Amino acid sequence: MTSVGTRVFALLGDPVAHSLSPVMQGAAFRALGLDVEYRALRVPADRPGRVAPIMRTLAGAGGGGNVTVPHKQVAARALDAPDADVTATGACNTFWRDAEARLAGANTDVGGILRSLEELGTLRLGGAEVLVLGAGGAGRAAVVACARGGARRIEIRNRSRARAELLASELGARLGATGAKPEVVVGTWDGAGGDFDLAIQATSLGLRPGDPLPPGLERATVRHALDLVYRPPDGTAWVRHARRRGVPVLDGLRPLLHQGALGLRHWTGAEPGPEVLAAMERALAAVPG
Ligand code: NAP
Repeated sequence: MTSVGTRVFALLGDPVAHSLSPVMQGAAFRALGLDVEYRALRVPADRPGRVAPIMRTLAGAGGGGNVTVPHKQVAARALDAPDADVTATGACNTFWRDAEARLAGANTDVGGILRSLEELGTLRLGGAEVLVLGAGGAGRAAVVACARGGARRIEIRNRSRARAELLASELGARLGATGAKPEVVVGTWDGAGGDFDLAIQATSLGLRPGDPLPPGLERATVRHALDLVYRPPDGTAWVRHARRRGVPVLDGLRPLLHQGALGLRHWTGAEPGPEVLAAMERALAAVPG
């Protein structure tokens, strides 16, 4: 129950009812022994103007939170102090009030993806050739993460080619400013095979049982794989496909966990320890699929 002194954090988005963040971050705050409530707050997709005032109210009261689809870009524009990954992606998923009382924000999806890729033991991202499937918010974070990790070439494939081209040109300019300069190209969604050190599945395909594999992957050679979708529990079509081929693969639970840990670091000022991460993992594992 919320009482006087309880700090309130919220996940802002639409929809939010399905999100695992309240369960995961609630477990983390309990493990830290902090008097914090973390709740899901639906901010209707057609009311983006409500996002900034809610962020300021929560942060101003010593809390903060996360932002998800479709409000990450409006959240980025609301910030007084964006981090480098917000600037590179144009999207914010984590906010708080900083020591100078500014509305600060980060894009921890980028760091969460990078930390997950480190768990794919044999992958060397420096100099890698990468395929990113998807050009929405997750695709954007994936491209920035791979650029930051030193990938040599990134091919973006998306159902809507125009969106992939927009992402490639926008990020081409933004990444140039950060010094990370991979070759970023747009591939064809339906036809291409190719040869990649890493493929990241960043579309919504796999959220629903029976969703197909993105086309073209049967003909591609892929040495490591990451699927940002974290349902269903027996693996998405992409995760099952990679496993059948003996390709090392992780699903979206690892990036979800790591972006959450990075968020906690911003909110509490300290990296969560192994016991807190274990509490977060247990909470995620206990959610029925
Ligand atoms: P988004 O901005 O709405 O973008 C959706 C993407 O999926 C677009 O590239 C879209 O292509 C594509 N898509 C949707 N339906 C499709 C279909 N039937 N066939 C082919 N492509 C389709 O969403 P997002 O924020 O990028 O999120 C994408 C997924 O990543 C979600 O499942 C989300 O939960 C997950 N995610 C996971 C994490 C994590 O930490 N694990 C973090 C962020 C996101 P078009 O442009 O052609 O519509």
